[in-house]
Amino acid sequence: MAHVEPAHLVELALGNATPTEADTEALRHVDQCARCRDELSTLTRLVTAARTARLVDLPTAPPERVWRRISGDLSPETRTPEPPPRIPDRRRRALLALLALATATVVAVALRCLHGRSRVVRGGGVP
Ligand SMILES: [Zn+2]
Repeated sequence: MAHVEPAHLVELALGNATPTEADTEALRHVDQCARCRDELSTLTRLVTAARTARLVDLPTAPPERVWRRISGDLSPETRTPEPPPRIPDRRRRALLALLALATATVVAVALRCLHGRSRVVRGGGVP
């Protein structure tokens, strides 16, 4: 079997869907392939980190006095604009989930590119 596609490894790391026959076959390959095992391990750690992130880990708006000072320095003749609205918790969680998914996808693509490059450097190989 060829290496497991990065998108499939992301799905396996997320573990959201009901396992399919393709998943079973992919996991069988992962057991015997160091490259795919390393990629799945990395993605699983990333997903775990994203899922255990707390709201306090997210950036927040600056304190009111800092916002007024910045606004005053930037536009001293105009009225100080209102600070940016706080993002509701549901939107923060959705944003965090999107960031985690985007990060997982970027890591998967980067790993794929790195492995492709190392194959070229070594003079080729079986894809
Ligand atoms: Zn593999």
